[in-house]
Amino acid sequence: MNNFEIIEHCGIYALIVAGGNGLRMESAIRKQYIKISGIPLLARTIGVFSSFDSIAHIVVVVPEEDVRYCFENIISPYSFNDRVCIVSGGKERQHSVMNGLKKVRELASLQHGFKIVLIHDGVRPFVDHEIINRCIEGAVKHGACIPVISVSDTLKRGDGNGFVAKGVDRNNLYQVQTPQAFNLDLIINAHEQALLSDFSATDDSSLVEQLRKKVFMTSGSIKNIKITTKEDLIFAEYMLSISTTGYSY
Ligand code: C5P
Repeated sequence: MNNFEIIEHCGIYALIVAGGNGLRMESAIRKQYIKISGIPLLARTIGVFSSFDSIAHIVVVVPEEDVRYCFENIISPYSFNDRVCIVSGGKERQHSVMNGLKKVRELASLQHGFKIVLIHDGVRPFVDHEIINRCIEGAVKHGACIPVISVSDTLKRGDGNGFVAKGVDRNNLYQVQTPQAFNLDLIINAHEQALLSDFSATDDSSLVEQLRKKVFMTSGSIKNIKITTKEDLIFAEYMLSISTTGYSY
């Protein structure tokens, strides 16, 4: 079977984590629910995955106290009911991913053959189908695949006192984005091992690296920003105002 045929036959699941507090945004509602051009950020993100036909199920992780809010304000109004389910998040991102993976494992238990999970930050609404496709292909071929962009600015390491400690060679340095795509068994194993050894990291591929498994890099996109600050929101509104393509969300 070639890659295309394998993708046709494998089970693909999306896990969208939106379980954070969004404190850096300093807004009245959590940043994942803030509207850009009238639509909540999280609804935009779910919309990109729900319009990708090969995805069997989408698991969305939100803070425990927001589960009902999310149903009423995101899932129902945007008609995401059929393939989307919500689970409660945990204290750190890694705990939220683990909670979501348990649900994915349950949903995937009846499916035979190769299973891929795409783990994505709920606050990256500008992900597109091309990036998703590249990540799936990379995971089918290599077991783990992450989207990256090369670093274009000069990098410095600070000394902690406001001065430059050292320049950093930017050759072979990349900024890492999501969705990160994995063979489902591999990433569940990586998370279980991390839990046992008390290892934590800010992304999921680092846990796979801990198992000494290779992680393949594919191209991300400069548009695929993680919305973190108020300035990012202004930039997001601007991107939508000039966008001529895109999905309905
Ligand atoms: O905090 P950070 O910017 O790395 O968050 C990236 C994503 O992880 C966000 O979508 C956030 O909602 C999610 N997250 C989570 N559970 C947490 C913390 C963050 O799902 N406890």
